[in-house]
Amino acid sequence: MQLHHFADDPLERYSQEAVNSTLRMSCNDLRFFDYMCWKEVIDSLATDSPLVMLSSQLTNRLKKASDEMIKRLCSGAVATFAFRRKRSLKAVPVGKQTMRMYILQHKYTAAQFGYEYATQVYGISYAESCAISKASGFMDNLRSDSYSFELRCSEKVLCELLKAKSEDKSAIERLRIRKIQECLTEEKTTKPECSPRDTLASYDPDTEEGRANIDSSKKLLARRMLIQGYTTHTVSVELGLSLRQCRHVAEHTKSAKYLDSIPSSSASAGGVLKPYLPSVHSSKSNKTSQFILRCKETVMNASLIMRIYISLGGDETKTATQISMISIAYSLYCAARHDVYGLAERSGAKRLTIQDAWILAVDYRSRRGYLDTCRACKSDIFRSTIQRQDSCSCPFCS
Ligand SMILES: [Zn+2]
Repeated sequence: MQLHHFADDPLERYSQEAVNSTLRMSCNDLRFFDYMCWKEVIDSLATDSPLVMLSSQLTNRLKKASDEMIKRLCSGAVATFAFRRKRSLKAVPVGKQTMRMYILQHKYTAAQFGYEYATQVYGISYAESCAISKASGFMDNLRSDSYSFELRCSEKVLCELLKAKSEDKSAIERLRIRKIQECLTEEKTTKPECSPRDTLASYDPDTEEGRANIDSSKKLLARRMLIQGYTTHTVSVELGLSLRQCRHVAEHTKSAKYLDSIPSSSASAGGVLKPYLPSVHSSKSNKTSQFILRCKETVMNASLIMRIYISLGGDETKTATQISMISIAYSLYCAARHDVYGLAERSGAKRLTIQDAWILAVDYRSRRGYLDTCRACKSDIFRSTIQRQDSCSCPFCS
């Protein structure tokens, strides 16, 4: 069990962060950033030194594209571009504001989570990032001409997105989901350059202080997991706390108004409008991954979550379930869905729960699930080894 990712976070931040991810916080700032990148690329196409080398077909479509069409290309939660330090390419400076936004987000998230990958996961507000940058003074070293743009999805899906008719909403949604999965599957996303930071010494299980820290960490983590929608049974299994301890944490969390009451006892709301709060699921979940992977739609959803989770957790996901990574993966998944489906997502009917994500992660760890790559669109697809093989077609491109 890894706890170090939560090491310096106070209680309120945990709770607020968890509530935010449950409320499907949209990544508007990151989406704006993606949009800015596209504008820069398109503007540079008219000059003799374009920022990215694109096929002539895509170049022509981009030149003629309306503002609405460009917005359609943006993924928000998963920024379409990667920045690389320039090696031998001729210097085409990336716009100052775009670069500034990128560096701010990059520095902030890399410092927070120890992963460059987190850049694409968390959208933070521009104002917030400016404040952080001012304090740490790293803007002084910013040189926008030492970075280059790189596209992270196939040009084919972008051309199809630009061609699609505005009336055909569901086709556009499907293409956008496919583009997100292509971005996530891309090597630049799955092989981040930064390495995770070391475990903090204050979590040493051999000292009394360390053990006490681990214990309170577990309780905080239990609280966070309950808010995010795990069952008490799963929390107990993952953290090695007794069911009684977990229920105790759940009671406390409920009284702090971060959780709704258990569904059966809250049937009569008495006409009072209640704020959206997740419910405690007290029963043991008997869902299995076969049930979760029962149709194309759910295979697509599972593939999105698992691709992010495995990228974040790395090889350790093969030997243990990484709760902190499931959390990050799940919030990106929610942000991506929200981005594509908009307000229709509020009903949440087709969205997987974090408990589902955990079941899939357990299956991956125990070799009952694996990632398969589609030959046509190169997207990764999550499959179950005990599933019937008649559902083999790719949920993203067929
Ligand atoms: Zn495919």
